[in-house]
Amino acid sequence: MSESPRAKRYIGIDLGTTFSAMAYVDAHGTPVTIPNAEGSLTTPSVVFFEPSGQVVVGAEARAAAVENPDLVVECVKREMGERFYSRAIQGRKLPPPAISALVLKKLKQDAEAKLGPIDGAVITVPAYFDEGRRQATQAAGEIAGLEVLDILNEPTAASLAFAYRDIKRKSDGQDDVLRLADETSKARIAVVYDLGGGTFDVTVLRIEGNNLTVLATDGDVQLGGKDWDMKLLNAAAVAFKAKHGVDPRNDEHVFQQMLVAAEDCKRALSARDKARMGITFAGKPVNIDVTRQQFEELTSDLLYRTESRIVRVIEAAGLAWSEVDEVLTVGGSTRMPQVIKLLERVTGKKPNTSLSPDEVVAHGAAIHAAIEQLKRYQTQQQAAKAAKPKSAAPPTEMKIKDDDAALPMVEVDPNAETVSDGIAPHEGGASTLSAPAISSDGSTIAEAELEEISPSEQYDANDATDVLRAIQTHNVNAHSLGVVMTNEDKTKVNSIIVPSNTLLPTSVTKRYGTVVPNQTSVSVIIVEGESDNPDQCIPIGKCTIEKLPWGLRKGSTIYVTFSYDNSGRLDVKAMEATSGASASTAIDRTNAMNQAEIGQAKQAVEKMVVSGSR
Ligand code: AMP
Repeated sequence: MSESPRAKRYIGIDLGTTFSAMAYVDAHGTPVTIPNAEGSLTTPSVVFFEPSGQVVVGAEARAAAVENPDLVVECVKREMGERFYSRAIQGRKLPPPAISALVLKKLKQDAEAKLGPIDGAVITVPAYFDEGRRQATQAAGEIAGLEVLDILNEPTAASLAFAYRDIKRKSDGQDDVLRLADETSKARIAVVYDLGGGTFDVTVLRIEGNNLTVLATDGDVQLGGKDWDMKLLNAAAVAFKAKHGVDPRNDEHVFQQMLVAAEDCKRALSARDKARMGITFAGKPVNIDVTRQQFEELTSDLLYRTESRIVRVIEAAGLAWSEVDEVLTVGGSTRMPQVIKLLERVTGKKPNTSLSPDEVVAHGAAIHAAIEQLKRYQTQQQAAKAAKPKSAAPPTEMKIKDDDAALPMVEVDPNAETVSDGIAPHEGGASTLSAPAISSDGSTIAEAELEEISPSEQYDANDATDVLRAIQTHNVNAHSLGVVMTNEDKTKVNSIIVPSNTLLPTSVTKRYGTVVPNQTSVSVIIVEGESDNPDQCIPIGKCTIEKLPWGLRKGSTIYVTFSYDNSGRLDVKAMEATSGASASTAIDRTNAMNQAEIGQAKQAVEKMVVSGSR
């Protein structure tokens, strides 16, 4: 007997540096946090590789770090995008996505125990994550056996949760959600200040009716609550050494114990003016007293690092603080009174702390998952309705961005098997051209697996589906994207194609030219970064036209198109156009895991027993 079909279940996952959280949208259209198997709303993103082969994720893994620091991985998110985790575990070098996948596997298992099978998830990342880190996060999801519906920026998720709550409050019991939201909402500017355990993000958004548009984003992937902990730990160690003559940090076990004590002390200082850091050294308990004022002085440079970013992001958005309507706080570290004081001083506003800073991102991700699922369902319905087969889409008219008066040459990849190299300036102004259709919105909906059941069966009350359907989100890219070129004088430059803070999705085409007559192939090196000097940018891939038509003159046109979708994924196309010939292209990423490696890691993770306890 065949099983009756079911709608797929997607959840939202905030894959945090120190803590992760997950949520789903319930039958009333309300986002709900899913507790883990231990009953907590958040799960420490800590992985303990037991010598027996079992893997423990969560609070117990964190506790195990005191005794087994070599077998425990914390803050793997900080290393996403690297080829291997910085330290070998049990003699093995592991890619960060494979470690992160173990955290996701535990979350998936725990969610399934509560809700039944989980098919996929929207996973959030800091807005400031570059392409490599986003792809690594996507790979982590796939390795964990999740269909990654989307990778969503954390501040977008947070504002979505705030905006959704407002819209839903207004719409409950009403029929026409769309009209209501449009009529009653004037455009608002929100600043989302997100200080988590390991990363800091600040984002400016415009919320207009159901549209969420990111205007500018900034951040620091190496700044978070952990750094506040380290300040306390180091100060305590210095005080200890002055009194007892030994540095307790030299003992790895004491160091781990101090890390836990420092975090506890920091949290206590959010509620009280004074707290105590207790450690045991050489069998003796030692207490160190800290006042909130001392703590704030000790960490003022860290707080200042966030201040400089919030000032910069408002400038990037072209706004004054008087134009900002709301300041939203996200991330556990915003519970520190120093953060609220800073925000009040700089923005002149009382921050909105009304949603739980630990859960709000997961809630936004769950809402986004529900929206995406509805979109897929609609696409499926439309496809089903279209009785006759569609003819091929006509070529799309693409706008050509022609901001380089004298176009420089693209550098040749020295490793490419080309007879000749690069592409050279092209003469004449660019306007528009017919080109192979490239989706202007980078949509992947058409490729989505389609469902037979309306997901609205999961959200059946109070017009929740209307609320979800009505919301649209827009992002900007955090880093400029360009290609490496060599000028006439042979200097290398980063030719930016999509500048930072460009509204997504975007598709920009730039025109370049071949370097020499009869050039047979061309390699375009794609970089991420703001500097003119490509050496100061991050190479993120390569797009190679393998076979140019024979007999091309020097300076023949090569169009390079960057299509960047709403969730920050990049598609690069290069096309030889002077002779009308098309060419094959390929993107090659240095640090990303390839599909075969992801498949292998997935098999390995499937076999691993992951639990929350030993
Ligand atoms: P998140 O990544 O958003 O879960 O944030 C986790 C960070 O928030 C960790 O560094 C925690 O130590 C920190 N945190 C949580 N609660 C508090 C608190 N009451 N006071 C200060 N920091 C906190």
